[in-house]
Amino acid sequence: MQDNKVDVVTLGESMILFQSYNQGALQYEPLFTKSLAGAESNVAIGLSRLGKKVRWIGRLGSDPFGDLVLTTLAGEGVDVSHALRDPEAPTAVYFKDFKRYGDPAVYYYRKGSAASRLAPDMIDETWLQGAGHLHVTGITPALGEHTAAAVRKLMELAREKGLTVSFDPNLRRKLWSEEQARETLLSLIPLCDIFMPGDEEAEFLLGPQEIEAYGRAFLDMGPKVVAMKLGAEGSIGFTQKTVVRAEPFPVERLIDTVGAGDAFASGLLSVLLDRREELSTGIGEESLHEALRRANLLGSMATQFKGDWEGLPTLAEVQTIQGGQKQVTR
Ligand code: ADP
Repeated sequence: MQDNKVDVVTLGESMILFQSYNQGALQYEPLFTKSLAGAESNVAIGLSRLGKKVRWIGRLGSDPFGDLVLTTLAGEGVDVSHALRDPEAPTAVYFKDFKRYGDPAVYYYRKGSAASRLAPDMIDETWLQGAGHLHVTGITPALGEHTAAAVRKLMELAREKGLTVSFDPNLRRKLWSEEQARETLLSLIPLCDIFMPGDEEAEFLLGPQEIEAYGRAFLDMGPKVVAMKLGAEGSIGFTQKTVVRAEPFPVERLIDTVGAGDAFASGLLSVLLDRREELSTGIGEESLHEALRRANLLGSMATQFKGDWEGLPTLAEVQTIQGGQKQVTR
């Protein structure tokens, strides 16, 4: 991949996820499947399938799981040439426990991981070389002592270099205290152009308010676009000029809602990044609606397959569906 043509750079922790093969209780299950997981790598794969050139940055252990992260991402066409390996700390893993009904419980083994050791002095200007956009999430700041400062530094550097920046708060209550999460996430919002919270995250950050009040409050902090996820209700977008609601796509067989937010981010960015010049002058109502519809489509698709990214569509598949045609499968 040529360094002078990267649509999106993203930084985050990717891990190896183990799930019980029979979806039984973690304690007793003897067989596990293993796969790649990570919010930012989900977005990277989603965007790559939609035809964007994406560079994933992260720190991995010098271990077979780190190798698996890299080969999986590279296999999806994502540039991993700037990823870092740490000989002293492992690639994180986590497990899903299907013991209870509803969403599975998640057990992380990521304390002390290679990614949790990310620090501001490791931020490297060459990561952003030739790139137009940076995407980060609120997970990385929660990982370690210096990771919030590192994310802040990268966002600032991206802005200095003229990149646009998107930020998904991706609240993970298991990783940090509520106070720390709220303070840090709020402090990063002014550094992004596109902010994409869910309605529950908006409430966590600002307290109970009307949806439209959240939109206005976040815009006042600096972002040019606020795209708010409303689960089964679709989404709503805000700019200084307009408020646009986008209807959801129907979900016929809901399987797993995890990954819907990352799929949403891929869909949204894939449209907005084709209109980067509009981002500085103010994205129009039509473009915002198109971006939210694409985001809703990808979000709804993500709920209909097992795994966070495996079933994400290609651009051709999206165009077929949005064109109202049935997919020919045999
Ligand atoms: P998160 O994973 O961040 O909690 P959501 O659950 O809000 O995100 O889902 C993200 C997007 O995926 C929603 O804004 C919507 O477009 C789509 N989506 C999620 N659940 C459904 C559903 N049950 N029906 C239709 N669309 C959905």
